[in-house]
Amino acid sequence: MKATEFIYVLKCPIVPVVNNVDPLIYTTVNVILGDEITIIDTGFNGFWKTGVLPFLKRMKRDPNDVSLILHTHSHFDHVDGDDEILEATGAKVAISEVGADMLENPEKEQERLLSLFDHLLSKREQEAVRSRPRRQPKPRHVDRRLKTGDVVDLGPFSLECFPLRGHSACSLGLYDRDEEIMFTGDALFGRGAIRDTFVITMASDIHGFYESLAMLKDMSIRMILPAHNYLPYAKAILRDEEARGMIEHTLSINLEIREMILRLLRTYRRLLGAAEMSSLIVPRLGPGYIIPPPEPNRVVLAHLDALIQENMIERIEKEDSILFRLKR
Ligand SMILES: [Zn+2]
Repeated sequence: MKATEFIYVLKCPIVPVVNNVDPLIYTTVNVILGDEITIIDTGFNGFWKTGVLPFLKRMKRDPNDVSLILHTHSHFDHVDGDDEILEATGAKVAISEVGADMLENPEKEQERLLSLFDHLLSKREQEAVRSRPRRQPKPRHVDRRLKTGDVVDLGPFSLECFPLRGHSACSLGLYDRDEEIMFTGDALFGRGAIRDTFVITMASDIHGFYESLAMLKDMSIRMILPAHNYLPYAKAILRDEEARGMIEHTLSINLEIREMILRLLRTYRRLLGAAEMSSLIVPRLGPGYIIPPPEPNRVVLAHLDALIQENMIERIEKEDSILFRLKR
């Protein structure tokens, strides 16, 4: 799909290794055609041959012109294709400083993710989180560590780096100031995707997330290029109204979750656990949303964490459970 004269968006099918990913979701791989070629996020291993090479051939471009891989963030579904591209082209890899640390020390990052919400989970729930099937991460190579405000020159245009907090601590928004185009990776997820996995925060940073959304709302943005076909638009290229709507939907689904947590705790006259709250909240977010039992949903957990920090609710340890109630 052509987004602009220089930006082409390819759709890489998701490879569902674990059963919590919607197989109709794709990951975008953005190809920037200048004198040299940049690839923004590489999707899954194999897509170089099945997607990018056939595209370059159609455009009558030499694969050896690929000189840079630029990443919005370090998650597997956006970096898995790096190796085959590096091998074929010798391109350089650029990502945020935090993202570089995550790619270079993936085991440390995996352990951080697994234990992120331990303080909100019972032992049994912690074990459920740890027993979920997952990929064995391997260290990856990074050439350039990007800082906030850095400008990456791609030839036909430049991209400025903005931290986008919430989904991951390593996410960058890549912004073309002249054309007002923003690559948002997974930082803007609209109403997510069917199955809960995609309405997620991999960091417990709801307050940073709101700050990033407020920053995006203040910027002039005519086009958003998200990393998946997020709801409600389910598109890879969002222009004007839809670009603004993407920011609004990402905010509103989170405000709904927060409000539902508070209403549940107000309504019930007993303590509630995160899993029980998740089972009441997640199906209301949209048809098809599910939670893999018996774990609580990670977004609900992130909001519980934020509400504890705000002194709105408190966490009670009772027998083998972790429960919550409004603070009075
Ligand atoms: Zn993703």
